[in-house]
Amino acid sequence: MYNQRIMKKIAFTTLGCRYNRLESAELAHELDQAGYTQATAEDGPADVVVINTCAVTGKSAASARAAIRAARADNPAARVVVTGCYSETSPDDVASVEGVDLVLGNAEKFSMTQALRKLDNHPEGEALVLVAHGAMPERLPVRPVTGMSGRTNAYLNVQSGCDEVCSFCVVRIARGKSRSASAAELVEQVQRLSDAGIKEVVLSGINIGQYSDGDTDLATLLEAVLIRTDITRVRLSSINPNNVTQRLIDLMALESRFCSHLHIPLQNGSDRILRLMRRPYTSVMYEDLLNRLAERIEGIGLGADVMTGFPGETDEDFGMTRSLVERLPLMMMHVFSYSSRAGTEACSMPGAVVRARAKERTAELKAISDMKRREFISAHEGKELDVLVESSRTAGGKLKGFTANYIPAVFEGPDDMSNSMVRVTGWRAKEGALECRLSGGA
Ligand code: SF4
Repeated sequence: MYNQRIMKKIAFTTLGCRYNRLESAELAHELDQAGYTQATAEDGPADVVVINTCAVTGKSAASARAAIRAARADNPAARVVVTGCYSETSPDDVASVEGVDLVLGNAEKFSMTQALRKLDNHPEGEALVLVAHGAMPERLPVRPVTGMSGRTNAYLNVQSGCDEVCSFCVVRIARGKSRSASAAELVEQVQRLSDAGIKEVVLSGINIGQYSDGDTDLATLLEAVLIRTDITRVRLSSINPNNVTQRLIDLMALESRFCSHLHIPLQNGSDRILRLMRRPYTSVMYEDLLNRLAERIEGIGLGADVMTGFPGETDEDFGMTRSLVERLPLMMMHVFSYSSRAGTEACSMPGAVVRARAKERTAELKAISDMKRREFISAHEGKELDVLVESSRTAGGKLKGFTANYIPAVFEGPDDMSNSMVRVTGWRAKEGALECRLSGGA
């Protein structure tokens, strides 16, 4: 029925991480070039719905299936395309959900227009599955993204895939080997974003510390971006502790445009569990790194991911994690309970932790994280800070933005301060943010 129809309106549902959101933005640009426009809420049903899925937890698969059903119900005549990590790891499961027309792996998603054309010759009511596992290009292309006007910051994918072997991780199965984008193209892209009015670029990747383009590692790439572009700020998304080099620390200490903020996954404070997880560092290495960072870079904002309930985690192991994170100079933690993922090594490890116990441990660490966050933000009361002001205001009508060390700041101010750097003085910590006043008595 819809074979002859020209399909124009496309809608996206993106689940999971920032990396997926970035890829959806890149896809939107590519489809825009091919004549599709993004459907808005007022447009009614779309002609194509793309669901970019995640596979990190057991819940991700359920969320993906719910999103597929909602897409089909809201857009009865649309082509429903499912891509992302859930499609890559479990294509048959995805294809079996009623209403799916096309299943694309992570490598195939950027050939979506060709794949949509193939659907025209495919029997209706049966999903077309195009997933060639492992067929990733050697070099990560630098893709432009759309929707930048009026935006203050932009994410830039510099790396994808991963060469580590963490036993709980399904991402490395879904994303393949590590590959990186060309440093020269990335530098050009940052300058283009800056020319388009973007003030802050966040360099992202699946395991960004493995960035490598010939002799250019991550620190060299950052140096090139800082020297060869006039971007106001550069930030890193998340980096593993074993990849935080002394050069990177020195660069952050010397360059105020390189935001003093790092999110460094810890995962666990017990060396026995870290070994089972196949994480390439120990708790002592992690603690030493964070202490060095805090000593060298004043006010640095440090975040961590911590996982509770990994198979075999005893009360004693958990006690080590708790006392380690209490000691660490962290401003926040992202704490979550382990969830088993098919195809991973941890999936068949003995010693499953009862769910309720893992949840208790998660709650305990979240309380520590909340306390550390309050303390970190309160320590900035009375201090002068530079805030990059975003274009939208808070629900209460205040300007908002982030400091270099990633404190959300809110304050009264005029519209023309949007998308610019302003100096404020911290007033009081409130609800996870810092209420500020414009410096200079404004
Ligand atoms: S470093 Fe470990 S957790 Fe991160 S993507 Fe690679 S294998 Fe997965």
